[in-house]
Parts: sequence; C-alpha cells; structure tokens
Amino acid sequence: MSPVLELRDITKVYGSGPDRVHALTGVSLTVHAGEMVAVMGPSGSGKSTLLTIAGSLERPTSGEVLVEGVPLAGMARADQARMRRRHVGYVFQDYNLLPGLTATENIALPLELDGVRAGRAAKAARQALAQVGLADQAGRYPDQLSGGQRQRVAIARALVGERRLLLADEPSGALDSRTGETVIRLLRSACREGAAAVLATHDAQLAAWADRVLFVRDGVAIDQTTPPSGPESLLAES
Ligand code: ADP
Repeated sequence: MSPVLELRDITKVYGSGPDRVHALTGVSLTVHAGEMVAVMGPSGSGKSTLLTIAGSLERPTSGEVLVEGVPLAGMARADQARMRRRHVGYVFQDYNLLPGLTATENIALPLELDGVRAGRAAKAARQALAQVGLADQAGRYPDQLSGGQRQRVAIARALVGERRLLLADEPSGALDSRTGETVIRLLRSACREGAAAVLATHDAQLAAWADRVLFVRDGVAIDQTTPPSGPESLLAES
C-alpha cells in the first residue's frame, strides 16, 4: 500500500535576492497509515513550512509531495482542494475558527462544503465535540470559549469525517498538560483507525507519543529516530 504521505527531497525558498530564506533544504519523509511522526526543532527551523507543504497549502520550490501515492504537482487545483477538504485535517496555531459560527457549525462546515447534508454534518460535528470533551459547548461562539477550548474545537474539526492525514502544529500551545495529553490520545486513536499524523512540537513529552521523531534544524532534517519511550509504553500506563 502507498504511504499516506511522502515528501521527496523538499526544498522551500521564500523571497528573493538578499532576502532569500531557505526554509527547507532537501527534506524527505514517509508516513504510513497508522503512524504518528513528530517533527521537532527550534523556532524558525522549518516545522510549519513542512506541514503547510505536506497539506498542499503551499508548493515546494523543488521536490515532490505524494498523497496516497499521487503526486500533488500533477493534480488539478480543484482535485487538490477536494483532497484537502475530504482527507486532510489541520490543527494550526491560530485555529482559524470562523467567529460568526458556533462550535458545532465550525466543525460541520468542511463536511457541508463537501456535500454532506446539514443534519448529518451537525450530528457528526456533535460527536466530534463530545470526543474532545466539549459536548456542553456546542452552541457557543469562538469568542465565548477559552483558548484551550478553541483549540479543542479546531481538533474536533480536524478529526471529523474520513480524514486520512492529520497535520498538527504545536497542538499543546494553548493547553495545559492534561488537555495536551487528551489531544495526543485523540490523534493516536485516529492513527489506530488508519489515519497518519504529523505533529510539529517543541515538547519532548508530546513527541514521545510518536512512532518516530524527525529533528530539523535550519531547514535541514538532521536525524530520524524512535522516541526513547515508544507510544505503546505510554498507552500501557493509562
Ligand atoms: P518553525 O515552524 O520551525 O518555527 P517556520 O517554518 O515557520 O519555522 O519558518 C522557517 C523559516 O522560514 C524562518 O526563517 C521563517 O522566518 C521563514 N518563513 C516562514 N514562512 C515565511 C514566509 N511566508 N515568507 C518568508 N519567510 C518565511
């Protein structure tokens, strides 16, 4: 079976002339269904750039991105957009919740855009909210929720539907450590059901939940290892 995500020799250069920034240089990464990979590195090392390219929100300067064996470069724009809506779940630093929609409506939106009827989409959204422990906040608007609650809504939105690739950028950012762990457990359980996840984090404790860790520095992948205590040992403790 094709890997869910394959990055081949990815380079990304922002700007031109003296302002050129090599955000990524020759990075390769393969993630199979069921796997969670953590990307670790200091601020500015290229973690977010790697995730936006993996999610086809941005094109690499050179190199190839394949999702389930299909090169993104050869895909029509409309097909790329459909693939993103249907199969890729994003949890990014600024959450991107729409302020005029309730928690449930924010989560249901990608399903509705994809043609799922409103009633079914709302039901799936309420289930996803319950999964992240926010069943009682369904009718609230983003500005009526705390930072941690908004992040959990963003995670519910990323998990709803049939997502095969989950991309999470610093999901522990606004969360206390217990909520951070809940989120990682949710990502892991999505992986057990066949999704692939890539998680960018500073936090070694969160990275320990991953099957592999890719270390980046100045846009270069410097190492790829198994975390010292693998995910199964952490799950066994629960
Ligand atoms: P990280 O997520 O590890 O903090 P980023 O991927 O955000 O790192 O950034 C990697 C490098 O690319 C940094 O030097 C950053 O300033 C630069 N960069 C990121 N996005 C842009 C952009 N849109 N335009 C110009 N430079 C950028």
